[in-house]
Amino acid sequence: MKPIPYVDLAAQFAAERGVLERRIASVLSEGQWIGGAQVDALERRIAARLGCAHTVAVGSGTDALVLAMKALDIGPGDEVITPPNSFVASTAAIVHTGATPVFADVLDDQTIDPAKVEQAITSRTRAIMPVHLSGRTARMPELLAIAKAHGLRVVEDAAQAFGSQQGGRATGTFGDVGCFSAHPLKNLNAMGDAGFVATDDDAVAGRIRRLRNNGLFDRNTVVEWGTVSRLDTLQAVILDHRLDGLDEVIARRRANAARYRALLDPSLVFHPASRPGDFDTFHTFVVQVDRRDALQRFLADRGIGTSIHYPVPIHLQPAAGALGHMPGDFPVTERQAGRILSLPIHQFLDDDDITRVVARLHEFLRC
Ligand SMILES: *Cc1c(COP(=O)(O)O)cnc(C)c1O
Repeated sequence: MKPIPYVDLAAQFAAERGVLERRIASVLSEGQWIGGAQVDALERRIAARLGCAHTVAVGSGTDALVLAMKALDIGPGDEVITPPNSFVASTAAIVHTGATPVFADVLDDQTIDPAKVEQAITSRTRAIMPVHLSGRTARMPELLAIAKAHGLRVVEDAAQAFGSQQGGRATGTFGDVGCFSAHPLKNLNAMGDAGFVATDDDAVAGRIRRLRNNGLFDRNTVVEWGTVSRLDTLQAVILDHRLDGLDEVIARRRANAARYRALLDPSLVFHPASRPGDFDTFHTFVVQVDRRDALQRFLADRGIGTSIHYPVPIHLQPAAGALGHMPGDFPVTERQAGRILSLPIHQFLDDDDITRVVARLHEFLRC
């Protein structure tokens, strides 16, 4: 039986090689390798697709989060509420601004629990950072209402959710800023690090444009100290090309998810349903199961690749020691951390592959 890898970036490149090699060669011969007209055009194209006033391309999703918060004046003395079950970058970005991350536990679908957010608010809280984990949108109406009632900013970590929607509106455009990653493993992926920020706020967009370029206002005037987080022109043309095919990629992932949902036995495998009005893009397809580690080995032995996003919650990471958390502080996240398994769902898998994965999974869980 042919193996079913968890990701297959080589297959992605093989399918687009001719076009991409021509576009890459043309950037190399034009001699503009950072920024420029192709990056500007990509920013406009993404803003139009999201339905927001501005997107600013930066060097990574992590930088998108850091620079967005700096542009909102979030810094030392401030608290930002975020879930402990994300990729570590969400929390790391808060720490890099000088602010303090404050965790709020999640719901059974792994998105932040609005009731827990409300309980975590103090006089120092400046912002809420929901994470749209796996391309599933957090409960935005509730979170926006809480933010409004308490005068808080909303910084969306939409790194895994480009293309997702809630109530017809693009995920990442609900808050003050939405931060996206185009890391090679994301649904819209560059061939290196890349990210962008979406916002309707002219001043915030302008400030991120300066911050990404050493704080330069023009060639010779620096108005505040910034950093270097600009997008390579090569990555811009790669992303421009891949945007052409993104809807197909998302459609295939959604078809694979629908197949899983139709076949998986809900008495053995928990997978939270998509909520009405949500358009989920399935950066990952995460199930919650008993005997997870043994199942993962069983599948690996049969050529089926899986992954875990993420096995150690952020509040229990060594780097989080100074925050003083203990096991038991965020019970939903901790219980899920031992049960979650990301099944293969990428766009090079078809119905037969999904059927094979489910058959193996049931074979293990039924004995
Ligand atoms: C990937 C990711 C990031 C960071 O993006 P990079 O481009 O790798 O810096 C942040 N948050 C979440 C939830 C992510 O999945």
